[in-house]
Amino acid sequence: MTWPELYLLHLASQAEPSPPPPPQQTAARARYQAEEDERQRAAAAAQQREEEEWQALATALREATGTRFEVRHNYTSHRHLDGYTQGGDHIYLLDTLHVGRIRRGADRPLCWVPSRAADPEVFDHLDDGRLPTCRACLRLARRLAGTTPADR
Ligand SMILES: [Zn+2]
Repeated sequence: MTWPELYLLHLASQAEPSPPPPPQQTAARARYQAEEDERQRAAAAAQQREEEEWQALATALREATGTRFEVRHNYTSHRHLDGYTQGGDHIYLLDTLHVGRIRRGADRPLCWVPSRAADPEVFDHLDDGRLPTCRACLRLARRLAGTTPADR
């Protein structure tokens, strides 16, 4: 580098000690940030919608059956691996349920069937506001409550 070039650089650094970030990278970053914000907003909205859907279903189910229930996690699911939880969250009955041809004893998940009677099952109540994920439980709950899912 020649002396005049160095001097120009010196003058430039005096005039602008911290130059603005490169415009293309700044634009890309802003775009990414906007996409990320939008994704998080959508996820929060979906979560809220799911929660409202479950609350509506739970209320309808309670009114239709007069049964107490809560959401419990099945720890004995075969899908449980070391440190990795993937078992279903079921609608767990606290009272006996008897609606039409459907009979379930208390302390059983809604999706219980007689062929599972011999299976040792452990259901744990986790007070973390989890929503039921068991499709069989949800299907039966919707049938009992006489509701259909809002957008599925
Ligand atoms: Zn279930």
